[in-house]
Amino acid sequence: MELSVNLTNSFQGIAVSPGIGIGRVMKLAGPGNVAPERLSIGDSGIEAELERLRCAITATADQLLSLQNELRRKLNNLDADIFEAHLMLVRDRTFVGEIEKRIKEEKCNAEYALYEALEHFQKVFATIRDEYLRERSLDLRDVGARLMENLTDVRDVMKGLDDSRVIVAASLTPSETARLDTSRVLGFVLETGSVTSHTAILARSLNLPAVVGVPGISLANLTGADKLIIDGFSGRVIVNPDSRTEEAYRLKARAADEFQARMKADNALPPETVDGFTVPLALNLDSACCDFSQLKGAGISGIGLVRTEFMFLNPHHHPTEEEQFEIYKKLLIDAGDLSVVIRTMDIGGDKVAAGITTLNEENPFLGLRGIRLALRERKDLFKAQLRALLRAGVYGNLHIMLPMVSSVTELWETREIIDELCCELQEQGLEHVRELPLGAMIETPGAALIAGELSRICDFFSIGTNDLVQYTRAIDRGNEHVSYLYHPAHPSVLQLIKKTVEGAKEGGIPVAVCGQMAADPALAVLLVGLGVNELSMVESAVPLVRRAIRSVSMYETVQAAEAALKCARAADVEEIVAGLLKTRFPEVAEL
Ligand code: PEP
Ligand code: MG
Repeated sequence: MELSVNLTNSFQGIAVSPGIGIGRVMKLAGPGNVAPERLSIGDSGIEAELERLRCAITATADQLLSLQNELRRKLNNLDADIFEAHLMLVRDRTFVGEIEKRIKEEKCNAEYALYEALEHFQKVFATIRDEYLRERSLDLRDVGARLMENLTDVRDVMKGLDDSRVIVAASLTPSETARLDTSRVLGFVLETGSVTSHTAILARSLNLPAVVGVPGISLANLTGADKLIIDGFSGRVIVNPDSRTEEAYRLKARAADEFQARMKADNALPPETVDGFTVPLALNLDSACCDFSQLKGAGISGIGLVRTEFMFLNPHHHPTEEEQFEIYKKLLIDAGDLSVVIRTMDIGGDKVAAGITTLNEENPFLGLRGIRLALRERKDLFKAQLRALLRAGVYGNLHIMLPMVSSVTELWETREIIDELCCELQEQGLEHVRELPLGAMIETPGAALIAGELSRICDFFSIGTNDLVQYTRAIDRGNEHVSYLYHPAHPSVLQLIKKTVEGAKEGGIPVAVCGQMAADPALAVLLVGLGVNELSMVESAVPLVRRAIRSVSMYETVQAAEAALKCARAADVEEIVAGLLKTRFPEVAEL
């Protein structure tokens, strides 16, 4: 349903998470974000702001020290002193004194005082003749960004507000999103991102509307006094709507809720095509600590993906083996007989947090990400996670899945580590499972092309289409400038999915899809036709996908897939599947 809107007070972005959010703005500052909002704190707020600044300085110094130690360990003490300059800066009286002075004199929040102090020092550095000293301004920028991040602990930003808000920011990392008090968030409006950026994925699993790719200029003048309507279906954002517009959007929100409720009524029905083929539907969870009792009603066959990396993105604490064991154990007990696929930490790309790695990669999505980081950089964290999984496996139907697999060696190495850990656990007398199904995510064209080989040394595949599309189409999945090229239905992607299905057949193993493609009703039907055995998605997508599957025959899906594989353009493929779905499931057009 498209509403007519006065365009002068609205702007268009990319809709990445459906729903309508209406409320006042909460602007987030932080590294890479817009200048922080200046808040007047009065005399009574000064001490609290100074205390926040002291805490942020301590946290920053702690992080720098641990980075320095980590680097010393790796570099045998050489070159680790590069952090010494940063440590000196964060403790420097002139620098810290300047921020304190601004808090006291301007009676403003610590973020704003830091921002102003940084601007001031950057100007001073720019006038210095000595090149060496002038370059120290880079250190200042680095330390300033880290300090800002610690100061702007997103867990705190909603404190003291008496209402829920729409978050507005230039960018928001997955770790920031994961740490927000989401019970107070009405939605997200961001400058950067795309449908499969991890922040968008989190927004969908939190059932919060999100619009990204909004020009910074549109956001620059927004303040906490502004009210926004955010339309996560169309990507439109309206500033300070009049009462008629607001009422129209409230009606739209109600209609969307009613539609979802109608779809959910079918949750008890099997996800079966009209000619009797069952396509199991599973859930994607972005946290292992969820209340599974509520999800069981979704009529699903299990959990097809648990993204465990979000547990590691809190810069202040990484979960220990024991903590992870308790979390996985509870999830497995709650899930009962249902299969649970837990993916080992997929850290790297846009999912990074202070303290995990000291690398500063030019191209993180092509860097030490997922299984690569686990095997080469953080084997300690990987082993602790595998130990926790092997121990928790006793309590349910656990499958372990490895992210970003691109070679058979990574599977062999992991199997060796698992064998070693089993011996270790045996010696320590800790109960554990020796045999667990081990799966590989197929997320790169290379992995799809060697699917036959991979299928002989693992027990299942799950295709991560969010990444497969990114790597096949050479499109950064978080970059709003190229999101116009991001088409999961592109024939190049379909060929690789077909290749993966054929490879899986060689090894006699099943193939699931757990990327966003599985959550789109029309594309889900296409995946079934391509021979995929299971579809895993965010809970809110299950009812529609179930309906879509129940409205077509397997014969039709195979025919659609065959026709799609002959196409040259994504648009032609989309036309084929949309056409099929519209005739069989006309309500889908209501979306
Ligand atoms: C994918 O790439 O499709 C996937 C499911 O993994 P993630 O989105 O976490 O990278
Ligand atoms: Mg992925």
